[in-house]
Amino acid sequence: MRIAVLKERAAGESRVAITPETVKKFIGLGASVAVEGGAGLGAAITDDALREAGAELGSAAATIKDADIVLGVQAPDIASLAGAKPGAWVAATFDPFRNAALVDAYAKAGFEALSMEFMPRITRAQSMDVLSSQSNLAGYKAVLAAANEYGRAFPMMMTAAGTVQAAKCFVMGVGVAGLQAIATAKRLGAQVSATDVRSATKEQIQSLGAKPIFVENVAGIEGEGSGGYATEMSEEYRKAQAELVSSHIAKQDIVITTALIPGRAAPRLISDAQIASMKPGSVIFDLPVAQGGNVEGSVADQIVEKHGVKIVGYSNTAGHLAADASALFARNLFNFLSAFWDKEAGKPVLDEEIGNAVRLTQGGKVVNERLAAQ
Ligand code: NAD
Repeated sequence: MRIAVLKERAAGESRVAITPETVKKFIGLGASVAVEGGAGLGAAITDDALREAGAELGSAAATIKDADIVLGVQAPDIASLAGAKPGAWVAATFDPFRNAALVDAYAKAGFEALSMEFMPRITRAQSMDVLSSQSNLAGYKAVLAAANEYGRAFPMMMTAAGTVQAAKCFVMGVGVAGLQAIATAKRLGAQVSATDVRSATKEQIQSLGAKPIFVENVAGIEGEGSGGYATEMSEEYRKAQAELVSSHIAKQDIVITTALIPGRAAPRLISDAQIASMKPGSVIFDLPVAQGGNVEGSVADQIVEKHGVKIVGYSNTAGHLAADASALFARNLFNFLSAFWDKEAGKPVLDEEIGNAVRLTQGGKVVNERLAAQ
């Protein structure tokens, strides 16, 4: 069983899908591991460190040759897979709802695409969930990036020269990233409030010592779809939420938006008029900027200034913490494959529940139900 890891080819991708720790663990299962030279450098992992752990380092062509399983952060294009075994598995993120052409190409080429974003949200798959591990880091980094652009301090400071007021920070969307953003802003000393469409988050917000901002008594407040994900809101709910948020937002110094609805563009949460209502010098960090953005006018990897407010957003927020993001991503992949490792067969054999959820292509066809339903 040969596991191959190529250098990530996507622009701005600094993460890597394997670390010396997981190289050792895969070898412990009886696999061999090949890594393209330089693949780990963006995450501060040297070729020597991978080699010492037992990996074979080489060119892209030598790495991919006869691979049974290819691991990636972002799925490699088909051309990079030339030389892998027919029917090889590729476990990576595919962004499948937005990458139909890539998924079709995998089917045509006969590879088995395993989409890590489609890991089911069940207890036993938590340790395999790359969305959670990466969102957690992204929520932390979002607050630091906003703090960096903010021309004032986060905590209240009483000094001999006078008092500095605590920053008011509002987090919109309280999933994995939002919860970490709340915790990080609290640690930095801000006054934190937060909102979500899922009413279950109210208690979570309070348990972190932040103030929940919620519309009450409006149909559609539950907002909970399957697997803990949000669904689209009723028109009535959206209007009520927008009014409440408008009055709240005008008083905020920092806003972190993290709202996502799987398979759809990120919902628009902040309009130009709402930005105009904020104080000059305020900062908005739009975490899902690459998925369409929650904030009107945000541009990935640029600081946009509107009405004196800075709007920031990275196309790859977790990638700004490449070492930790890679360590967790690589562990997620190892936890996934090792959980299904069949010692006799010397390879992983997926069960139905998780296999059917993550498998996009098999036997030359696109086979994923969630993708078909979209
Ligand atoms: P996500 O990244 O899909 O979305 C981020 C947040 O935005 C969500 O909380 C969502 O409700 C919210 N949102 C969507 N539309 C909004 C709007 N219009 N206004 C305000 N907020 C809006 O979410 P996530 O981080 O993946 O987490 C979703 C849930 O799934 C959480 O409860 C999380 O704890 C749970 N989860 C469970 C597992 C597991 O059991 N294995 C793994 C990961 C997450």
